[in-house]
Amino acid sequence: MSQKVIVYPGTFDPLTYGHIDIIERGAQLGDQLIVAVSLNLGKQPLFSIEERTALVKAEVDRINAETNSGPPVLVKSFSGLLTDFASEQGATSILRGLRAVADFEYEFQMASINKRLHGELETMFLMAAEQQHFVASRFVKEIALFGGNISSFVPENVAKALNQKINKN
Ligand code: ADP
Repeated sequence: MSQKVIVYPGTFDPLTYGHIDIIERGAQLGDQLIVAVSLNLGKQPLFSIEERTALVKAEVDRINAETNSGPPVLVKSFSGLLTDFASEQGATSILRGLRAVADFEYEFQMASINKRLHGELETMFLMAAEQQHFVASRFVKEIALFGGNISSFVPENVAKALNQKINKN
């Protein structure tokens, strides 16, 4: 039987507990989950793709160590079209997280475009967890910039990297 490979793409600038929740739940939905860190120069990320990928990897290593059912979650980076990357990985679906209404229009458009580009690739959505539905990388960066406490939004090593980055700039 063919494997159900799911790709969870994002900018992860930086990884938050909202993303982590989607990763943990998404890992239960197929045979293999690949977290795909996008170069996404259009968003002008604060962290380089290498830094973002390393922060995601550190957290995914912890998740993999804690859950020993099924194959480990993989972390990869990509720079071209998501549909091309997903095909190369043999994926059958794309996973995205949905927060409040604000996410809907963008996600609906992206899912429709990706469906047009690659008809066999389905996009599926997980609703944000109740405690995480307002958490966004953008706000976390803003709070950190003004010296606020971000410890309830991101893991410790992400908070450390964010504070270091902000103090350097
Ligand atoms: P992108 O630039 O591709 O939107 P993000 O890193 O901002 O990348 O988000 C990646 C995915 O994770 C998106 O589907 C987004 O809706 C989802 N996501 C982000 N934050 C949360 C959260 N707090 N809860 C659930 N899903 C989230």
